[in-house]
Amino acid sequence: MKAKQKGYFGKYGGTFVPETIMPALEELEKAFTSYSKDKKFKEEFNYLLQTYAGRPTPLYFAKRLTEHYGKAKIFLKREDLCHTGAHKINNCIGQALLAKRLGKKRIIAETGAGQHGLATATVCALFGFDCEIYMGKVDIKRQELNVFKMELLGAKVIPIESGSQTLKDATSEAIRDWITNIKNTHYIIGSTVGPHPYPQIVSYFQSVIGYELKKQFKKAPDYIVACVGGGSNSMGIFYPFINRVGVYRNKPKLIGIEAGGTSLKNGHHAATLTLGKPGILHGSYSYLLQDKNGIIKEAHSISAGLDYPGVGPQHSYLKDKNIVQYKTVSDKEALTAFYQLSKLEGIIPALESAHAIAYLKYLMPKTKKNETVVVNLSGRGDKDINTVKRKIITK
Ligand SMILES: *Cc1c(COP(=O)(O)O)cnc(C)c1O
Repeated sequence: MKAKQKGYFGKYGGTFVPETIMPALEELEKAFTSYSKDKKFKEEFNYLLQTYAGRPTPLYFAKRLTEHYGKAKIFLKREDLCHTGAHKINNCIGQALLAKRLGKKRIIAETGAGQHGLATATVCALFGFDCEIYMGKVDIKRQELNVFKMELLGAKVIPIESGSQTLKDATSEAIRDWITNIKNTHYIIGSTVGPHPYPQIVSYFQSVIGYELKKQFKKAPDYIVACVGGGSNSMGIFYPFINRVGVYRNKPKLIGIEAGGTSLKNGHHAATLTLGKPGILHGSYSYLLQDKNGIIKEAHSISAGLDYPGVGPQHSYLKDKNIVQYKTVSDKEALTAFYQLSKLEGIIPALESAHAIAYLKYLMPKTKKNETVVVNLSGRGDKDINTVKRKIITK
């Protein structure tokens, strides 16, 4: 039962999976534990982050956005400038390197909006892995361009026709595939979710965001704001600050923004930490959107990357301990922020990241002129242009 004790954040996390997967998780944990301390591995990871993904990403002072609020200085951590357009590539490079060390020849992944599928297909082309991406049939229709890109990169996209034909069902199918092909296959999970050791691995590979920020900022900023889907871009930027909360005397204040959807009252949202209850989904214990009988509810968000009824277990712990504050903004507020950042700064943000920008409306009036706010701009908005266009037409 020792394995069951590992991988918990308080009471959250764990390894709730079929026995057949346990050996692969143990193998992965062992590899991660040793390679995350290995000089050669870290050098190769950092080399690819720099020369392939385009790191370090800049910390940009948003002058006009700052002037708009007339309060604290606002900075943007530019993950939108990463290769493939978001932070997801950091994790995919790290996991591909682990898969290579484990001698795997084949990679599988699940994807909703296609962003994680795209990042996975990209590293598979980079390393020469066979690549199969599980994706709900509904999502395939919605995300035509990303499907085409994945195929262009040599991946096979497998349509899932069960359930709601979206991310949750694609994840279940990917797990099924892994059980059957565990010997030669590595499963790249795209966020800080899933059974141990995935939440730990993904936040480690994403922590490069936070460590760069620490270097770029001489002192810690007063506030860090990031959007929360599964929780990887936020864990990445919070990471070095959480471990040292005492050192910084609770500075910076950390704020995670969930998708409030059309309304928190009608159930049309993805506010997992705000309105969910703990339960088990996809291998770990964490806050979930579920009904009285424990049936998982469908999430909703204008941004596909936040549209998930679960959240990483470490976030559940950070919420209960009051280390991170979790707030929501609505679809409409995110859309307004999407236009606002485009017009004020010439940066078209991903709709996910627009949620973090939208929260400034509530945060800025409480700040002082000599304070600083960093927003993690997790991705760029090219992928969302069609969604936004449809919104204008149907208005
Ligand atoms: C996938 C995605 C997210 C949400 O995932 P996290 O794991 O919570 O970071 C946020 N922003 C962008 C641009 C994404 O592609």
